[in-house]
Amino acid sequence: MKNELLVKMVEEFALNVVKPRAREIDETESFPLDTVKEMAKYGLMGLPFSTEFNGVGADTKAYIDTIRIISKYCATTGTILSAHTSLCSHPINQYGTVPQKEKYLTKLNTGEYLGAFGLTEAGAGTDASRQQTKAVDCGDYYEITGSKIFITNAGYADVYIIFAMTNAELGLKGISAFIIEKDLKGFTIGPKEKKMGIRGSSTCELIFDKVQIPKTQLLGKVGEGFKIAMTTLDGGRIGIAAQAQGIAESAFEKAVSYVKTRTQFGKPIAAFQHTQFVIADLKTQIEAGRLLLYKAVEDKDNNLSYTESAAMAKLFCSRLAVEVADSAIQLMGGYGYIRDYEVERYLRDAKITEIYEGTSEVQRMVIAGKVLRS
Ligand SMILES: Cc1cc2nc3c(=O)[nH]c(=O)nc-3n(C[C@H](O)[C@H](O)[C@H](O)COP(=O)(O)OP(=O)(O)OC[C@H]3O[C@@H](n4cnc5c(N)ncnc54)[C@H](O)[C@@H]3O)c2cc1C
Repeated sequence: MKNELLVKMVEEFALNVVKPRAREIDETESFPLDTVKEMAKYGLMGLPFSTEFNGVGADTKAYIDTIRIISKYCATTGTILSAHTSLCSHPINQYGTVPQKEKYLTKLNTGEYLGAFGLTEAGAGTDASRQQTKAVDCGDYYEITGSKIFITNAGYADVYIIFAMTNAELGLKGISAFIIEKDLKGFTIGPKEKKMGIRGSSTCELIFDKVQIPKTQLLGKVGEGFKIAMTTLDGGRIGIAAQAQGIAESAFEKAVSYVKTRTQFGKPIAAFQHTQFVIADLKTQIEAGRLLLYKAVEDKDNNLSYTESAAMAKLFCSRLAVEVADSAIQLMGGYGYIRDYEVERYLRDAKITEIYEGTSEVQRMVIAGKVLRS
């Protein structure tokens, strides 16, 4: 399918299926399983992967536009899709063996399986190299013990990419990646976290108590886990930038339509120069975010290094989303603070984009590292 057609289809889907559920999902903090099933029907769960494994064969641009458009109407749904695609399917596509792709990617792409990614631990957040979860080589199998926290899609996912130490003495070179199925003995999911935003998404602890997995579940090579995690996050960050850009666009559209109709002092508040200047600044920032986002997309689609451009896009677009949502509330006055007007949800949803898949401080570390090492 051509990108323009796909984008049109996603826009209709987002308006008809995603948007009507957004407020209720937030209010009730309920995981939108029905929307996920609908996304699967539309082929949205396997967009950027080869048709050989039931994917759609779309490019990064089409996938990123999908995340952006869906997040415009419901950031929770954008998160679910982004974690599934960027963080679970993508590493299997990039590092998996053909049998692993046949077994997992084919079902992730059709949406029969939902995916998740478990890197963060209580003592290994920003410093992901401090993994305490262990995978002990027991000859025919690995035995995994430890836990992961804050895992998106936990409890609903069928497949988890997780990281564990296979050799603690080697530090980050001793971390390996594994594909874990949901129903293994000793693998349990903790209670759902209560969050500020993206409240319909599921965020839970994963607990591994001597979980035995066959050696075929190793993803990539032994000791390659940290590299797999970092390259996966490079791609994931473009998805989060798109989610943030979508939230910013939505907040902006709501604010623009409001200032044109709200009258004070006998004229629409859009007639005040202060309002106009705020709108002009927001529009300029949104356009800058769009350019940074599509620069990262272009780098990825052209097989260029995108570590730096993805970090810049995430850093910029996530701040943009928070600032635009905050400004939209301010422009809408008291109404902006009332839940029915939705912009307060955008602000709550926007904040996470500055935290997950590497905080803004991490993005700055990545960017500065690239600049100063070259
Ligand atoms: C809703 C939600 C969903 C998530 N989903 C997932 C998921 O699916 N999979 C997964 O693996 N993880 C997930 N995470 C975890 C997320 O990626 C981490 O929370 C994030 O990486 C930060 O780690 P931390 O919370 O331990 O914070 P810390 O690492 O404790 O950081 C605290 C503060 O210190 C700053 N800081 C730390 N080190 C430095 C430094 N060297 N220089 C400057 N500042 C520094 C940080 O930027 C931050 O501001 C999720 C988190 C949330 C809240």
